[in-house]
Amino acid sequence: MTRIGMKNPIVELDGDEMTRVLWGLVKEKLILPLVDLKTEYYDLGLMNRDATGDEVTFESARAILRLGVGVKCATITSNAARKEEYGLGELYPSPNATIRSILDGTVFRKPIAVSSIRPSVSRWKKPIVIGRHAYGDVYKAVEMEVEGPGRVELVYTGVNGAERRITVADFEGPGVVQGTHNYDASIRSFARACFLYALEEKLPVWFAAKDTISKIYDGRFKAIFNEVYETEFKEKCAAAGISYFYTLIDDAAARVVKDEGGFLWACKNYDGDVMSDMIASASGSLAMMTSVLVSPAGAFEYEAAHGTVQRHYYLWRKGEKTSTNPVALIFAWTGALAKRAELDRTPELANFARRLEAAALAAIEEGAMTADLAKLASPAPVQALDSWEFVDAVAKRL
Ligand code: NAP
Ligand code: MG
Repeated sequence: MTRIGMKNPIVELDGDEMTRVLWGLVKEKLILPLVDLKTEYYDLGLMNRDATGDEVTFESARAILRLGVGVKCATITSNAARKEEYGLGELYPSPNATIRSILDGTVFRKPIAVSSIRPSVSRWKKPIVIGRHAYGDVYKAVEMEVEGPGRVELVYTGVNGAERRITVADFEGPGVVQGTHNYDASIRSFARACFLYALEEKLPVWFAAKDTISKIYDGRFKAIFNEVYETEFKEKCAAAGISYFYTLIDDAAARVVKDEGGFLWACKNYDGDVMSDMIASASGSLAMMTSVLVSPAGAFEYEAAHGTVQRHYYLWRKGEKTSTNPVALIFAWTGALAKRAELDRTPELANFARRLEAAALAAIEEGAMTADLAKLASPAPVQALDSWEFVDAVAKRL
């Protein structure tokens, strides 16, 4: 049988631990037998990031800007424990934060729905999509320990030398301080990305911040969102029957669990980090959540929303066949291949991506699933499959 060809490559970013194991499995069993895969490969495994002084992360992000489409495996964000575990030279920032700040994008996370798994919030009838601003705030913060009594100030020095300063705090003893920032241009592209996504998916938009407390910082987010809506999208949204709703973040959190879903919730960076995991887990499992980073330059990076599943990896290293769910990784690949197909106008490849998604969902609906889903499914399956059995079940249907 001839395999499906690709016109242009996608950027492949390999990762760590259990997701690295599943990455290879998904490629070998579900993609390579049917697709003549073209990728530009970057190894973002922790050891290679360390060996290259993290240069590989920067190169991979630039490659995504150049080729337009990337697919990323989960990666370890190094910390003191990992430094010790892997004997690392240095602690580098989270690769996701590095890539997001180079692409200046917005991350959209959407639960993957299957009929046999009901969300834990019984009122939810439709998926809630999170649009997470992927630049700045605490993810680009500078932090400092304050050793003892003294004053901390914020100082702005204009290019003409003019200076403005305000006092952050007068310390009487030790403490900590943090400086965060964002740019109008980045907030504006965040707002645009959200309205464009909402129009494409026909979803109402909610945006929430805390402008009553943070009048200047969060106030700017609210004002720019409103301006982008009023000047660029109000008419298009009205024509598509899409509403825009602004509220305070705590009010939004309270409303979300009472609503029936089916909207795009635009979140600032930190809110999106927290709320997307909450929505994912309440919708079923962290492994049933797709994630795509959309840059204003028109580049797309697809990934799973979950991490490297460290606990399972340690079991696998001891020789156990774990029941780790590869669905979000499969959907990262299908998302990237479908986008490549759309940009290259290659309908065969688009068709493959659709069929692979359908095969994964059909397997689950017919009772073939990993342990995380088996606990939630109704009717419950006779037994949960390990990752290898599940991938075989998908391959059989594909
Ligand atoms: P995690 O990998 O998301 O896993 C947390 C727990 O969620 C797992 O122990 C497992 O629960 C469950 N889970 C997640 N994905 C699953 C899957 N595919 N199938 C079945 N169960 C799944 O988070 P973590 O263990 O806190 O973080 C591990 C590493 O991932 C860290 O080094 C972190 O830096 C990194 N991380 C990377 C990304 C990314 O690259 N996008 C995102 C988040 C975290 P049970 O143990 O109950 O089975
Ligand atoms: Mg998170």
